[in-house]
Amino acid sequence: MAKTKTAPIALVSMPTLRDDIPSFQLALLKPTLERAGFSVVPHSVFLDFSRHVGPALNQALAEVRMALTGEWIWTKAAFGALRPAREYLDRYRVDLDELCGPAGVTPKALVDLRERGCPAFIERVVEGHDWGQYAFVGFTVVFQQLLASLALAKALKEKWPTLPIVFGGATFEDDIAAEVMAQCPFADVVHCGDADLTLPELARRVSKRLPLDGLPGAMFRGRDGAVRYAGRAPNLEQMELTPLPDFDEFLAHRGELGLVSDRPLMLPLETARGCWYGMKNHCTFCGLNRQGMAFRSKPPAQVLEFLQALSRRYGTRHFNAIDNILAPEYAQALFGVLAEAKTDLELHYEIRPTVGREQLREMRRGGLVSVQPGVESLSTHVLTLMKKFTTGVKNVELLKWTAYYEIQNAYNLLYGFPGETVADYELTATLLPQLFHFQPPYGFVKARADRGSPMFEAPKEQQLGTLAPVAVYQHLFPPDFDLSRISYYFDDTRTNVPPADAYEACHELVDEWTARWKSSERPTLTYFKTPGSLSLFDRRRGDGHATRFDGRAAELYEFCADARRTVDVVERFGDDRPWLDATLAEMLERRLLLDLDGRYLALALPANRYH
Ligand code: SF4
Repeated sequence: MAKTKTAPIALVSMPTLRDDIPSFQLALLKPTLERAGFSVVPHSVFLDFSRHVGPALNQALAEVRMALTGEWIWTKAAFGALRPAREYLDRYRVDLDELCGPAGVTPKALVDLRERGCPAFIERVVEGHDWGQYAFVGFTVVFQQLLASLALAKALKEKWPTLPIVFGGATFEDDIAAEVMAQCPFADVVHCGDADLTLPELARRVSKRLPLDGLPGAMFRGRDGAVRYAGRAPNLEQMELTPLPDFDEFLAHRGELGLVSDRPLMLPLETARGCWYGMKNHCTFCGLNRQGMAFRSKPPAQVLEFLQALSRRYGTRHFNAIDNILAPEYAQALFGVLAEAKTDLELHYEIRPTVGREQLREMRRGGLVSVQPGVESLSTHVLTLMKKFTTGVKNVELLKWTAYYEIQNAYNLLYGFPGETVADYELTATLLPQLFHFQPPYGFVKARADRGSPMFEAPKEQQLGTLAPVAVYQHLFPPDFDLSRISYYFDDTRTNVPPADAYEACHELVDEWTARWKSSERPTLTYFKTPGSLSLFDRRRGDGHATRFDGRAAELYEFCADARRTVDVVERFGDDRPWLDATLAEMLERRLLLDLDGRYLALALPANRYH
């Protein structure tokens, strides 16, 4: 398409985000618009904010906690006077202490930031640049970027009343978009859905001040002031159409600001959208994807091309796939190829927890160094209730082999699914201390009805009773906002769950596990093999102790390295049933072997790193 003669477009990514990871949305939308003939100027304003408050505080604010402090600090700048800070500080004392400790500030500093620091920052951003030169200003909004985006948009509109303001990004699905349009007169357009196909046409019309009627994805105010919407933009079916992301501005601006990180540069990369598992079984708590569940992925050859181009251009070998789930064919067609090429690329992906040991090993050879596997529970009953449809023992196997292959494993344990029982958590509490030599979960967290999840869409069917926005939204928005439309997190009145004390032991054990992993001596359970014998050293709790299995007992233990059905164990070793029963009982008694979901699984990791 020939280059248009319109003014350039500003694309803005606001706080509160980490300063060591670029906004993927800016990196994708810039070349998307450029190849349609537009001139685009990205603004990673979240970097300026990190410089404004200091990287330590920025980092702490960017972490998403239930207090949503990364949003709360912008309330004054966005809406003027709101509820007194004292109520917020009292209500979220624990969260705020956790935030303030590592950042080296007091809660009073957060109040100062809300009252003065953030409004001053917005003023500085407005005055520090000629925003009036642009055809329009587009804000990309994901988690914890809404209020800062509203604050800057409002201030820009005050100074340049004819400057069109466009919002877009994963935050905006119908209700949230409609509420922003209803309450924020400075918002001219909210784009809903994938922007790839519709944003260029939206940009053309907004730049030329043409009507947006009939354009999918565009929610806008007509000349009569009424909000119009032709429906969500279509999902991009052909992922191969998305361009090579452009991180130039992020890196240049970071350099100008003198922001440094002790971690190597990790670039986000999008290789797929939607979730192939969720298309069949939508996990009940999952609010990702919403209308975009249909799974689409880039051809592996193009992913390899992108990795080559990006690693050359930016001199990094670390990439974080922002996909919700690994495309099954990538195991071979991407990681297999990288393994063959013996590259030292390091990649992070979200995976199904059912990926087996062989596949993990092969993908690790190809550079899979970090996964988010959606473990969620160790109880098969609870996993079924949440529609994960895997088993506790499969999840433990995944923890085991990711530990062995030294793959970072970011997972949570969830609880509170209607129908679960006290016995589910008694079982979990017996399992947890046996797993201390594997990576601990980030937390043991109550499952929530997030917007877009089955728990949100069908609360009665999910036995959740009545939903209500979580309390923090009362501290974020003025009273005229309809919180049920603008909120993402919801509380409910579920009853068919065990009493709170049924979860206590698991909370304590997860805390202990996490503390042990942070200590100078991590728990271990390892075996060394000599011909005919296995020597096990157990340092999961306390001083530890050693055990040796010889002959058939050693064979039996190694046989159960991967979870084995009872019937298979009996078939292989059952010719001397009394011996088999006694040996299994001893291994179980010493907590070196798990008997879960009708399978036996040896828990010790081989000391030999090269199996
Ligand atoms: S939790 Fe993960 S696997 Fe489940 S539906 Fe959501 S994205 Fe898919």
